Amino acid sequence: MSINGNMKQVLSVQELRSLNPMQIERLQNAKFHAAAKNLLPQTKFYSGLFKEYGVDPAKLKKVEDWKKQGLPLVKKFYYMKHVEDFVVKPDDAFKTHLSYLRDLSTGAALDLAFKMLDKQALAHQLHYFFHPKMPLFSGGTQSGKPTPTLITMPQLRNLDNVMGIAAQLMSQDYFKDTVGMNLFPYGPHLAWHAVQSAFNLGVDLNLATAAGSAMKTKDLVEMADKFKANVFAGMAEYMANRFLPMAVKKKIKLKKNILFINGSEPMLSKDKDKILKLSKKLGVKNTLVLDFYGVSEMKEDIFAECRPGSGFHHIAPLSTIVKTIRINKLKKGDFIDDWSFSKPEDGGAAVMWNINGAGTLLHGYLVGDKYKKIVKGRCPNCRLNTERVYGVGRLELK
Ligand SMILES: [Zn+2]
Repeated sequence: MSINGNMKQVLSVQELRSLNPMQIERLQNAKFHAAAKNLLPQTKFYSGLFKEYGVDPAKLKKVEDWKKQGLPLVKKFYYMKHVEDFVVKPDDAFKTHLSYLRDLSTGAALDLAFKMLDKQALAHQLHYFFHPKMPLFSGGTQSGKPTPTLITMPQLRNLDNVMGIAAQLMSQDYFKDTVGMNLFPYGPHLAWHAVQSAFNLGVDLNLATAAGSAMKTKDLVEMADKFKANVFAGMAEYMANRFLPMAVKKKIKLKKNILFINGSEPMLSKDKDKILKLSKKLGVKNTLVLDFYGVSEMKEDIFAECRPGSGFHHIAPLSTIVKTIRINKLKKGDFIDDWSFSKPEDGGAAVMWNINGAGTLLHGYLVGDKYKKIVKGRCPNCRLNTERVYGVGRLELK
C-alpha cells in the first residue's frame, strides 16, 4: 500500500490535453508550496539559506514568491561542490512526510489511510519516499566534470510514465512492427534509462542494446540489420559519425521508414544532415529525426518534440517548474541576487524548482541553459496544452 496524497505525480496525455495552462500552474504551485515548506528545510543548504535571508518557507506559496522573498539563484558550480547539502535528510521522517502530504491533500482521508498502515508498511513507505535509489550523472559537457543528482524510487517510477507519454507523442502511424535500438552508453545517467523505459512501453521489440564501451558499433550494426531495427535513440554525433558510417561500410539494409531520436546533447545541424544522407544509402526512404531535451537535475522531467521543430513539450510539469529569468547584475560568486523573471515569450536563462518528492532538491537553480522562448498554449500538431521550450543553448556564466 502506498500513500501519495491526492496530488498527482504525472499528468496523463488526456489531462495534458484537457487542462489549461492556468490549471497546470495551480497544481505546480501547490506542489511547490508543499516542497518548499516541508522538504527544503530538511536539506542543509536551504535550511541555512532561509535563515540567512530571514525567509519563512511557509510563505513560499507560489514560485513567484522566490523572487518576492528576495531569495537568490544558485549556480551549478556551487551545487557541484556541495551535492550532499541538497539531499533531503529529514530529522523526523514521519513528521516531515505527514506534513508534506497534508499540504498536498485532504487531511481526513490521509489520516485514515495512515491509521490503516502497519508499522512495517509505514517504515517501507518512508524509506521509499526519502531514500535515494540511484545517482544520475550528467554528461559534464559544460563543466568537464559529471554532476550527480539523486533520484528516488517513486521518481524512477514516474520516469516510466513520462517516457510512456513521450513514446506516444513520438510514435507515427506509418510505423509498423517497431524494433527499438538504444544507442546511448550504458551507465548511471539519465538517457539510457529513459530510452529503456520508452522502448519497453513504446516499441514492439526492444533490443535493449547500449553503445559506448558496452557493445561494439559493428555488432550493433549487425543487430540492426538482422532485426531490421527502425527506431534508434542515441546521440546524433554517434549516429552520424560512427553507427551509420559503419552501417554503410557493412552494406546493411534498413526498412523504408526509420525514426531517429536524439538526446543527451544538442543536435548539430551537420550531424542531422549526415544522418539523413547516410540513411538513404541503407535503403531508407523516410528518416524522421526528433529531438529530446533533458537535464539530469530535473530527474524524470523530460521534454520531447512531437515533430521536427515543434519545440520541446513539457510533458511532466508536475515534476519541475521551469522558468526563464533575466540576470540584472552578474557578480562573481556562487549565487545571483539581482535577477527577475522574464516573460516566457522573451526567453532567458533557465531556472528550475524540483516539486516532486525527495532525493536531491534544487530550487532556484540555474540549469546552465538558456531558452529562446517558452510557448504556452496548445500544440497545433499533438494538441497537448502544455509549455513548449524553443531554442535551447548553453548559458555561459563566469
Ligand atoms: Zn506537439
